[in-house]
Amino acid sequence: MRIAILSDIHGNLEALEAVLEHLSGESVDRVVCLGDLVGYGADPNPCCARIREVAEEVVAGNHDHGAVAMTDVSHFNPLAREAIEWTAQVIESDHHRYLESLPLTLGLSNERAMLVHATPARPEAWKYVFDPVEASSEFGAFTAQCCFVGHTHTPIGFVLRPDGRLYGVPLEKLRLEDGYRYIINVGSVGQPRDSDPRAAYAVYDEEAGTLEMHRVDYDIKTASEKILKAGLPTPLARRLSFGR
Ligand code: ZN
Repeated sequence: MRIAILSDIHGNLEALEAVLEHLSGESVDRVVCLGDLVGYGADPNPCCARIREVAEEVVAGNHDHGAVAMTDVSHFNPLAREAIEWTAQVIESDHHRYLESLPLTLGLSNERAMLVHATPARPEAWKYVFDPVEASSEFGAFTAQCCFVGHTHTPIGFVLRPDGRLYGVPLEKLRLEDGYRYIINVGSVGQPRDSDPRAAYAVYDEEAGTLEMHRVDYDIKTASEKILKAGLPTPLARRLSFGR
């Protein structure tokens, strides 16, 4: 089974469509999504509709919960809060119910991988894991070989070797070795923050035990203009072209 893993779409329909177009050429059997379908971007409803069409497994992100009043958004930064309040107003009731229904964690069919938006230890705490020190306390919280995460919008792999050594690796192509364990952040489709503005997603090949990152060009200009037209904060439009 070849599985496309998408995260942090954030209402960016142009980025999502470009990724779906790209993965159609990757002989993917299945699409899963690690949450944050909405927030920041101008197209929360079309993005929900597309993910509901294509993704078999979807977990909730903090922005999904924020949009349906299931998490406290007072700790969101002011721009994120303004965008989530706008999203909460425009989200259609059917998508509202869908976002409410999303689980915090899921396991993939072969039990070798788990899916969560932020971290496996306390998913609802929405903790950010940027380095191996922060990742070290998370490996005890899941039994699968691999945990796929999003949330930071920054692709990176954390590798736990059989001898206990833990380190971070840049993600392009990764072979998942027996006896090793992994926390893999697949980056963001709709608002990348690793200085590469292209949409990010990963393809996980269960049989081959490989993970490959893809970066996809999309129409940033249109996505930015829609953000401005919706009356959302200008920095949310501008940041898309910087990938920050
Ligand atoms: Zn996010």
